[in-house]
Amino acid sequence: MSDVVAFVWGPAGVDRAAGGLLGAGQRLAETLGGKLRAAVVGAADDAVVAAIQKQADTLLVLEDDLPGDYHPENYLAALVAVCKKLSPRAVLLGNDSASQELAPRLAHRLGGSAAGDAVDVAVVDGRLQVKRGVYGGKATAVIALERSPGVVWVRARAMTPAEERAPGEVERIRLGLTPDARVRVVSRNIEAKGGSRLEDARLIVSGGRGLGGPEPFKQLQALADTIGAQMAASRAACDAGWVPPSWQVGQTGKKVAPELYLAIAISGASQHIMGIADSKVICAINRDPDAPIFKHCRFGLVEDYQKVVGPLVAKLKRP
Ligand code: FAD
Repeated sequence: MSDVVAFVWGPAGVDRAAGGLLGAGQRLAETLGGKLRAAVVGAADDAVVAAIQKQADTLLVLEDDLPGDYHPENYLAALVAVCKKLSPRAVLLGNDSASQELAPRLAHRLGGSAAGDAVDVAVVDGRLQVKRGVYGGKATAVIALERSPGVVWVRARAMTPAEERAPGEVERIRLGLTPDARVRVVSRNIEAKGGSRLEDARLIVSGGRGLGGPEPFKQLQALADTIGAQMAASRAACDAGWVPPSWQVGQTGKKVAPELYLAIAISGASQHIMGIADSKVICAINRDPDAPIFKHCRFGLVEDYQKVVGPLVAKLKRP
């Protein structure tokens, strides 16, 4: 009952997020005096298994055909079965949408407590304690989890990655789960992706409602292409249907941690700042000198974006 289970999604592979998740798991297991038991759910190739093996004390690979592509009911059944088999004190998940969806349901099924968006997980007076940013990152909430196991999804990418160790033991199991017929996946629309995932991007160009429509995002795309950046947006721009919802950064969107986040015509509402607070350098272009974004950025330009973006692209392209 002092072990930590960390769930890694096989199809996502061992990226920066998985490294941070396993790093958080290693440190928590050490504090608890237990083992870090990783479990891979969904199809995983040998390279993924070998990489996780070096970062966990044991690794459980599920070989049921069931948890292939993400399916909430099947994944939940698999997670419950793994936790019942391993009886962990804590269960860690990443900060992807599947983990966020599954964490509270898993805690409920196991009779435990759930918390999310953790930047730190510790053990204080024998109880799991989670820290998370609140009020747009202006304050930190400390949450003690009353029941066991504590099921926590963490801001994995912001966490120190796992140390490599002697490869842990691998166990391949079939749980014998039957597919849940209540939810049927009718179709999957996979958005074409360019470059790395937004959460792993080194450079991000992001646009907001001040752009006024979908067309100007093409200008921002030209800027992003010039410097090799990924595109993102505020919720207002996504909700307006100007760009895909997957571009949304913020409290209810993705949490990013690039070296450079360039916010263009974004006001800097606290909910947006929550998603970009881990950026190394934030730059903003906004025509309102009182826009809140200027309180959070290292470099700010008070100007109409239309006067800046075109010339900036031209200048950057000039040999
Ligand atoms: P606005 O606030 O309308 O700002 C537009 C900015 O563009 C203004 O500052 C304006 O000065 C500037 N501008 C206008 N024209 C120009 C121009 N020509 N050149 C330069 N600048 C110009 N928001 C998120 O982004 N992500 C979230 O995850 C998120 N989650 C939320 C969760 C909850 C529960 C709630 C209540 C809200 C959430 N929001 C989120 C919404 C958030 O509160 C803001 O409404 C949103 O971030 C505003 O988006 P914006 O900055 O693009 O638009």
